[in-house]
Amino acid sequence: MKQLEERILAEGNAVSNEVLKVDGFINHQVDASLMREIGKDIAAHFKDRGITKIVTIESSGIAPALMTAEEMGLPMIILKKAPSKVLNEHLAHTVVVSYTKGTSYDLTLNSDFINENDHVLIVDDFLANGEAATGALRLLRSVHATIAGISVLIEKSFQPGRSKLEAQGVEVYSLARISKLDKGVVEFIQE
Ligand code: 5GP
Repeated sequence: MKQLEERILAEGNAVSNEVLKVDGFINHQVDASLMREIGKDIAAHFKDRGITKIVTIESSGIAPALMTAEEMGLPMIILKKAPSKVLNEHLAHTVVVSYTKGTSYDLTLNSDFINENDHVLIVDDFLANGEAATGALRLLRSVHATIAGISVLIEKSFQPGRSKLEAQGVEVYSLARISKLDKGVVEFIQE
């Protein structure tokens, strides 16, 4: 998506050869009109696929996921990161281990909202090593939903997220694919 690539070049901050900061328009301050355009693009790509719900992971995926859901006329569900204090039979739960950050966190979903009749599109901000997305897939499959695909705003293509997800049979649709990152340098895969 040209508009997103241009914003990344103008306002993104490559702080190392691994990390891109986009706090000015995605992760901290959010550009609502850019999010609307992103929602339209994702909705157009996944139209007529029988999708019933849009799912995102707390918290930076919420804005683009909501715009996608609005554009497709579907509900959006947020996978919660906080450990639930009220564990009950409706609550599906998994742990995402971030080997890169050396941290782990809970991911929970109330199965009242997604079940075996659902065909789900996941929307998130970044795809790096695919750990968050793999956790989301695990959770959704545990409630027997089927997966239409995963859409991310920014894929760091030099990291293994895409191949990990494709190996699980999941389509990955990225709006911007970064081939190279370094201090002050951002390069995209041209498609
Ligand atoms: P993964 O699980 O694919 O390794 O990483 C996914 C999550 O890590 C994203 O949802 C995002 O929150 C965060 N993340 C990974 N790489 C970056 C990055 O370069 N910049 C920012 N701002 N967040 C990132």
